[in-house]
Amino acid sequence: MSTILEEIHQAYEPIGVRVGAPIAFGTYYRLTCEKCGKILGNVGDKLLPGMIKSLIDQEFDLYAAGLVGCSCGHQAERAKALDAKRAEAAKKRLA
Ligand SMILES: [Zn+2]
Repeated sequence: MSTILEEIHQAYEPIGVRVGAPIAFGTYYRLTCEKCGKILGNVGDKLLPGMIKSLIDQEFDLYAAGLVGCSCGHQAERAKALDAKRAEAAKKRLA
């Protein structure tokens, strides 16, 4: 597994998103909900080191408010478990 791909896996794991098998020429990977398996989108591996972690950190508030992630609410739950204070503030601000 490439270093960038490992980084992508590690970055999505805490928020409850699973990175699946490569699709489309092996440069894109399917993102699915860790809880229910619903397809959430794709991620490309043409990223610089550190980029994916910072990207997901920037999306934290959106996950917390349920604006991105699965309709089952798993990523919002994970966001709350990761940082309840920030998740609550995001929900108030965005919901
Ligand atoms: Zn789900």
